Amino acid sequence: MTENTPSPALEVLKTDCVIVGGGPGGMVLGYILALQGIEVTVLEAHQDFHRKFRGDTLQPSALEILRDIGLSDDVLALPHKKIREIVTPTDDGEQVLNYDVLRSDFPYVAVVSQPLFLECVAKACEVFPHFRLLRGTRAKELIEQDNIVKGVRARSADGDIEVHASLVVGADGRFSMIRKLSGLPVHTLADVPYDILWFSLPYLEGDPQEGMINLPVGDKFLVLFQRPSEWQIGCVIPKGSYQQLKEAPPYAYFEDVGRQEPVFAERLRALDDWKDLSLLSVKIERAETWYREGLLLIGDAAHVMSPVGGVGINLAIQDAAVAGMMLAKGLAKGHVDVRTLHNIQKKRMLDTRLIQMVQVMIQRASLRAEKKTSSPPRWVKWIQNKISQLSIVQWLPVRLFGIGVRRVKVRGLIDTQRRTS
Ligand SMILES: Cc1cc2nc3c(=O)[nH]c(=O)nc-3n(C[C@H](O)[C@H](O)[C@H](O)COP(=O)(O)OP(=O)(O)OC[C@H]3O[C@@H](n4cnc5c(N)ncnc54)[C@H](O)[C@@H]3O)c2cc1C
Repeated sequence: MTENTPSPALEVLKTDCVIVGGGPGGMVLGYILALQGIEVTVLEAHQDFHRKFRGDTLQPSALEILRDIGLSDDVLALPHKKIREIVTPTDDGEQVLNYDVLRSDFPYVAVVSQPLFLECVAKACEVFPHFRLLRGTRAKELIEQDNIVKGVRARSADGDIEVHASLVVGADGRFSMIRKLSGLPVHTLADVPYDILWFSLPYLEGDPQEGMINLPVGDKFLVLFQRPSEWQIGCVIPKGSYQQLKEAPPYAYFEDVGRQEPVFAERLRALDDWKDLSLLSVKIERAETWYREGLLLIGDAAHVMSPVGGVGINLAIQDAAVAGMMLAKGLAKGHVDVRTLHNIQKKRMLDTRLIQMVQVMIQRASLRAEKKTSSPPRWVKWIQNKISQLSIVQWLPVRLFGIGVRRVKVRGLIDTQRRTS
């Protein structure tokens, strides 16, 4: 926790709510609050949203929330791919889980470049004179008085600023500075046995147009996301193996991928510098408490999800929707009580806990399957097959990852006509 030691601040701003972090959680929360007339300032450390590696999957629930706040048409007008089913390879072929089993206007995952998505939300926010996005502004300290958070100090290229607000929202991602400064403890929920190597390859004419491709190659597993001019590729590697991999050039590591998928062979051979690849340390973490008086954490700052199911963005947007609806009344009056912050966490905890638990189970099951040398007897396989064909087994994972346990709805913020047009 920081002491309340004033440093010479160039500029002092006052706002109802200051949101630290312009990711999916922070930007959507900013928009929802601004829609309700709340004065919002979002601080984003970077000048633009064009970070090299980011998640791109918008699940049905995120799309429903965007529809409810009048943004789904704009977002779906961006270049995107729709994934309508999840195909998982099995011993006997493949298992297909179809999003049609969901009762949703959006029975698919939309793969939308996250930088384009965030620019789209930022543009929509511009219509509100009481919304301010300060790009290139990094929060450094909390302003506290009598153990109550009153605002943040931040640094931009033009100098230091202080932003005083009724509420500070930490939406600053998995390495959240706001969470660290707040002193709210975070727990690691499971040891994840793998990390992910991210890299990109140019997209060429004639390449597959599938939006997202799952690619098992021997003991490697790759996921390819189609961006407007490139493939963003994640490759699962055993935790702790990165340093050893780096002893040979990257193209040597991906030689077998090029052999199996000749269409990418030449581009993979051009990968000769590890600096072009980025290591994502995979973890599953959760803050026990997401709030203090004057402060709330949402999205990755409150809970880091595993990549299983591609739900990190969905949860961040759901947190934003729930918080946006529950905070507006207090913010309009200039005070949000701790009870409201507690209730926001309570409303989001069931989904967060359950999804993290299922992610841990899936990870453990896939690890056990990897270690198995012999396949199960025929009758066990027969039962497994029958179970996997049950409609409830088909529906559950799609429902959990696509919508969640409780559907998040944002009602009454825009007129119905605009929502369905
Ligand atoms: C390589 C990669 C691939 C992923 N793939 C997927 C996927 O396919 N599907 C999926 O659902 N999820 C995916 N995820 C996870 C997903 O990106 C996150 O769960 C999601 O973005 C969380 O949103 P958020 O708004 O909470 O935080 P973030 O998106 O992390 O946004 C936080 C923002 O805060 C800013 N910031 C940080 N510190 C400060 C500060 N001190 N001051 C001001 N600003 C600050 C950052 O610049 C950033 O813009 C992926 C993550 C990574 C790293």
